[in-house]
Amino acid sequence: MPDGASKLRDVNQLSDTGAAFEYELPVAQLPGFPLHHSAGDGTVRARLRFGREQGWPKAQVALEAEVEMICQRCMRPIRVRVGADSPVLLVDSEQAAENAPEGSETFLAPEGRLSIAALVAEELILALPIVPLHEALAQCVPPEAPASEGAVAPGPLPAGAGAPGPVTRPFADLRALMERGGNTRK
Ligand SMILES: [Zn+2]
Repeated sequence: MPDGASKLRDVNQLSDTGAAFEYELPVAQLPGFPLHHSAGDGTVRARLRFGREQGWPKAQVALEAEVEMICQRCMRPIRVRVGADSPVLLVDSEQAAENAPEGSETFLAPEGRLSIAALVAEELILALPIVPLHEALAQCVPPEAPASEGAVAPGPLPAGAGAPGPVTRPFADLRALMERGGNTRK
């Protein structure tokens, strides 16, 4: 990975020095990628600025990414563009995360160390849609349609091929009645 984005760095040192980074990373190289529903292709541009907020080590993470994902309607690739710019408090334990100010986003940096790539990966995962879909239904490529010629519409039967319509035969019923009557008489 270029320029040590995956290198473990000391969170306190980053925050105290107000370190700043700018990376352009292939999504495929981020930890946890390729994602479910992602085709694995794409790039993320990330700008990070470290500092402190109420004593907490903090990173301001801005990113722009274009990731190839799989549309969950038509199962074809779709390029998803996302952007985000969020403050993230850096905590060294789950317990510390619970104590973080309410509503703040936290990132777990065990032993006070983190890799930029992991932080960017987490922010990108948060920004990407869980169920990627083409914006409009019309953009979805329909699945291979079954050959329409196979469908046989029930057309009219050829002339003279039986299937008599309702023909009025007034005496047929009469005869049936008489026959039935004859039977009962026996
Ligand atoms: Zn689609």
